[in-house]
Amino acid sequence: MLTIVNPSTEDRVEQLPDDTVVTIAHKVEQAKHAQAAWANTSLAERIQVIRRFNQLLVEQAEGLASLLTAEMGKPITQARAEVQATTQRIPFFLEQVERVIQTETVLADPNSGLREQISHEPLGVVANISAWNYPYFVGTNVFIPALLTGNAVLYKPSEYAALTGQAIAHLMGQAGVPEGVFQLILGTGEVGALLLEHPLNGVFFTGSYATGCKVAAAASRHLMKVQLELGGKDPAYVCDDVDVATVAAALVDGTFYNTGQSCCAIERIYVHYRIYPEFVAHFVKRVEGLQVGDPTLETTYIGPLARRAQLQVLEHQIADAVAKGAKLAVGGYRLDRPGYFFAPAVLLDTTHAMTVMREESFGPVIGIQPVSDDAEAVQLMSDTPYGLTASVYTAQEKRARAILQQMNSGTVYWNCCDRVSPRLPWSGRGHSGVGLTLSTYGIQTFTQPKAWHLRTN
Ligand code: NDP
Repeated sequence: MLTIVNPSTEDRVEQLPDDTVVTIAHKVEQAKHAQAAWANTSLAERIQVIRRFNQLLVEQAEGLASLLTAEMGKPITQARAEVQATTQRIPFFLEQVERVIQTETVLADPNSGLREQISHEPLGVVANISAWNYPYFVGTNVFIPALLTGNAVLYKPSEYAALTGQAIAHLMGQAGVPEGVFQLILGTGEVGALLLEHPLNGVFFTGSYATGCKVAAAASRHLMKVQLELGGKDPAYVCDDVDVATVAAALVDGTFYNTGQSCCAIERIYVHYRIYPEFVAHFVKRVEGLQVGDPTLETTYIGPLARRAQLQVLEHQIADAVAKGAKLAVGGYRLDRPGYFFAPAVLLDTTHAMTVMREESFGPVIGIQPVSDDAEAVQLMSDTPYGLTASVYTAQEKRARAILQQMNSGTVYWNCCDRVSPRLPWSGRGHSGVGLTLSTYGIQTFTQPKAWHLRTN
């Protein structure tokens, strides 16, 4: 049984039966049978079903947001924002899918009677193993385009977002997704591993680098398509020509939104030495004002961590940084109350000898480090095996572009951060992943091209 615990009270919310070797095998077989029929339904029909699913999300947004808050501790205003933004993201897929999977004629030679075409066929049955931090975003980025393009999906939500996963599966059924096409697989990581023992046609994974490596290794046994959206250690660099108070406020949000548990959260900040003291003063003052506590309250900005074990990771990072000379300006301790609460922490004068500047924190902790110029900023920003996003704040686009074009990351930001758009590809490099979601490429990734050589005579 899977026990769901409310991370803000430590109360048991519910127990759910998890999947077993036998039920997984049954679901995989069902999905295989159902996929062929689903791929043969018209695209218009598949679009209609997904449109209904989106409408159900709109109608049930409040209940879904409350469920998410109860099981993973996301502050209620942020849970609502996630569900709402998801309903605004899905229409992109609905509008684009027809164009993306249309058969292309790339040669039509009247003299020889030769035509060449590319058609886009579904992969087949794919696994979607998903993280808990934004279950609506990371789930729909995969299963919506996967379903629209005619695949069947075996959806394993994280055990920390299992109730949300269950609610999503229920709404899929209500929306008219035929039985077997969208299968919920419930359980811990072990259940995810069992799922990958089957010869599927692809696995689309969102989670940590460590688990991503295991997923890739497991998938290699059957040579299925592998796509990994993994963690990050995303840097921001603040140049000396900005409005310091405005940028400090933006970066507090970029760091601490969702209690710092975002894949593209700002995880390290470099500040030009000329404005370092002023920046730090604004930043720390703002962090001191963040409302930490009961995630069901409208006023709460920082809720509990979703997982108890992460508290220790943050404590270790802070102890390591302080031992190596960083100054803890604010926070950095567990709150004396039930729940996995951690006071948002700001470490100053960090160096790259400290784990807080090298390993993903995935919680409300940030290191801030002064730099002497843009060249040093580029060197430090690039000193990581991760490559998800990088941000630069400066009044000059030219200066930002010069820095950002040197970043080996899937996404770069000028004067913004922690932002995802359905129109742009979302991808990581290095330890941040392989493949992509979103944009038209993120629809095509659920298809396989077939090359047609057609000769009339
Ligand atoms: P994990 O890697 O712990 O888990 C991800 C998923 O994999 C969960 O469903 C988990 O199940 C499952 N799992 C665990 N072990 C295995 C295994 N051996 N085989 C198959 N599946 C397994 O990540 P988190 O859920 O903790 O998510 C946080 C991480 O995800 C962070 O690193 C974050 O940066 C990253 N992330 C990346 C995003 C991106 O777009 N690049 C977006 C969002 C998050 P269970 O949870 O039940 O153990």
